[in-house]
Amino acid sequence: MYRMLFPGGREWALTLSYDDGVSTDIRLIGIMKDHGIRGTFNLNGGLMHGRPRTEGSHITRLTPDEVREVYRGMEIACHGYTHPFMEQVPSDVLVGETVLDRMALEKITGAPVRGMAYPYGTNIPEVRERLKALGIVYSRTTVSTEKFDLPEDFLAWHATCHHRNARLPELCDAFLGAASRRPRLFYLWGHSYEFDDADNWDVIERFCDRMGGKQEIWYATNMEIYHYISAYRALVSTLTGDALYNPTDTDVFLMNRKEEIVRVPAGSTLRTEE
Ligand SMILES: [Zn+2]
Repeated sequence: MYRMLFPGGREWALTLSYDDGVSTDIRLIGIMKDHGIRGTFNLNGGLMHGRPRTEGSHITRLTPDEVREVYRGMEIACHGYTHPFMEQVPSDVLVGETVLDRMALEKITGAPVRGMAYPYGTNIPEVRERLKALGIVYSRTTVSTEKFDLPEDFLAWHATCHHRNARLPELCDAFLGAASRRPRLFYLWGHSYEFDDADNWDVIERFCDRMGGKQEIWYATNMEIYHYISAYRALVSTLTGDALYNPTDTDVFLMNRKEEIVRVPAGSTLRTEE
C-alpha cells in the first residue's frame, strides 16, 4: 500500500493563520517572508475602515487598498463580515455575515475566497452545515491539539497551538524530531497585535528561525493544504492499490511499500509498485 506525502515528497508541512486584518500583520508578514514561511490571514470585510483596532490604539484595521498590497503571496480568508459570534446570531445573519465577507474579499482578490476562521473560534454542527452550503470549504477553530495530525473535518480544523502556548519550543522540537512515518502538519495561529500588546515579537522571530528555510518542510497556505489533501483523497485505486488514477489537476506524492517516493501526475494513471 502507500501513504500520503506532501508536495515534492516531503513529510512535513507548516502553515500559519492570523486573524482580524490589522496593521501589525505587516511586520509579521515581513518576518514570515524572511524565512520562506506562508500562511492565511482571516479578514472582516466590514471592518476595513483604517481606524484604530481599539480606542486609542496605534494598531489599525487595514483598508481594502492596504489589504490588496499587504497580503500579496499569502492567502486571504473569511472571518465574518463584522466578526460575529456565529452560533449566537440568527441564521439569516450568519448567511449575511458570510456572504458579505466573501464578496468584500473576492472584490479585493479577484478570485474565489472559500477559506475561513471562526470569529471567537466558536463552531457547532449547524454553523458548519450552513457554511458548507455557502461554499466555505474549511474553517479554523481556536482549539489547540498540540499535535501534528491532518484535520478530520476541514470545517472544524483545529490548530496545533496558539503562539502564546508555553510549550511552543517543545512542540517545534517534537515536530522536527524523529520521523513518524506519516505526514505531519504544524499549524500555528494567533493575532499579530498580540505581539505588540505583549511586547513579545521575539516569540514569532524565534519560531520562524527554528521552523523556516528548510528544504524538507512544505510551506503552504491553509487553502493549498486543503487542495492538496483533497487531491490525495480523490485518487482512484485498483483493488490491490498497485495502480492509481489521479483525476485532479494536482500532482500527488506518496510513499509506496518499498519506501520509494512516487509522484502521481495530474490526470494520469500510475503503477505504484514496479
Ligand atoms: Zn478575530
